[in-house]
Amino acid sequence: MSESETQQAEDERTGQLESCQRCGREQGLVGKYDIWLCRQCFREISRGMGFRKYS
Ligand SMILES: [Zn+2]
Repeated sequence: MSESETQQAEDERTGQLESCQRCGREQGLVGKYDIWLCRQCFREISRGMGFRKYS
């Protein structure tokens, strides 16, 4: 049992999140709602989920 092994696992897990969860792209990422998405996918999903400007 060592804390370093746990820390390493955490780092690897975090690293995997730094790509679009929808298409895997690593450019233009937007991190919201505990998921990473590229701007293109974020826009499409936001529209599909009903996130619009309420102004
Ligand atoms: Zn994407």
